[in-house]
Amino acid sequence: MNFIPQMEPWFDENEARAVYDYMKSGGWVTEFRKTREFEKRIAEYTGTQCCSVVNNGTVSLTIALIACGVGPGDEVIVPDYTMVASANAVKLAGAEVVFVDICRENLCLDFDLMRKAVSSRTKAVILVTINGRYPANLEGFIDFCRERGLKLIEDAAQSMGSFKNGRHLGTFGDIGSFSFSSQKVITTGQGGALITNEEVLIDRIRKLRNFGRAKGGCDHYLSMGWNFKFTDIQAVIGLVQMRKLPWRVQRKKEIYARYRKYLEGILGISLIPTKLEDTSPWFIDILVEDGRREDLMEYLKGKGIGTRPFYPALHTEPVYGRTGSYPVAESISHKGLWLPSSSHLDDQTIDRICTEIRTFCDKYMRTTK
Ligand SMILES: *Cc1c(COP(=O)(O)O)cnc(C)c1O
Repeated sequence: MNFIPQMEPWFDENEARAVYDYMKSGGWVTEFRKTREFEKRIAEYTGTQCCSVVNNGTVSLTIALIACGVGPGDEVIVPDYTMVASANAVKLAGAEVVFVDICRENLCLDFDLMRKAVSSRTKAVILVTINGRYPANLEGFIDFCRERGLKLIEDAAQSMGSFKNGRHLGTFGDIGSFSFSSQKVITTGQGGALITNEEVLIDRIRKLRNFGRAKGGCDHYLSMGWNFKFTDIQAVIGLVQMRKLPWRVQRKKEIYARYRKYLEGILGISLIPTKLEDTSPWFIDILVEDGRREDLMEYLKGKGIGTRPFYPALHTEPVYGRTGSYPVAESISHKGLWLPSSSHLDDQTIDRICTEIRTFCDKYMRTTK
């Protein structure tokens, strides 16, 4: 039986043909018309005025911070539970990371703790809409940041295709950021995007990604900038992936619903509240009780089923090595497990995975919910 990976990118002949046709058409390969078209498509899909694509999601967060004026001496609030790039982008921009704990209900920043963490040096907040979920008090974040003159940057790298009441995640802050690395909802191998409705910000972003020039080939350097450019080769793949996105969003929801229906009743497994009208879960996430996560992973691996543990609480990692109390991030990072989540998983495979989980839990779990 074939091994079922936790996640797998998915291409077919449409991407292959698009790349072939592009190469035959004699383009320059670097960013040009196809890149602009990809940006336009993302802006349309997310309902924003402007989109700028760059070479990855770490860079998109970093230039979002720089475009917002964040730099040395400033502090930026980041959730303790997130992919490490959310924090490292702050370091790359030259600022300091201040970790704040998350809420158990949605794994996003805790609003009250965020408020308490603000100091006179705080310049921005990075709100991570993790796995397509958003904080209960999303509007509170917007109002608070506006009142305090803080920039709100939304790291929506895991939220392509996720909305709040019809409004795409990533559009609530001053700038939203996406990633198209090979594991994300749609992929161009590597890639990132920034979305905003503020012309001033997009103008800064465009210069930051292109050596500070107003446009390609015009060698006047109006501001500091580097080379964070995309390529048309990636854009033609991205355009095909965007066409597949609505189907993929729908399928991700069906997959989550199928897992949930099966797993909800199993002793020792908990799920995170998920509104499927809004959220298109990027990864299928569960919490494994009784300290049994590693055992379950081993068991599933033996059955040819790939899983991946949640990210660690970042403050505990050697690179940050901070002390402090982040009970929710610590607890979920020890219990959290991602199950196979590729959008081309079929129902039969999902049922087999769930049956294996049930077999394990019936045998080893003692928890009463
Ligand atoms: C993937 C991811 C990033 C980083 O994106 P890359 O394109 O891999 O650099 C940042 N934040 C979050 C939440 C992510 O999931």
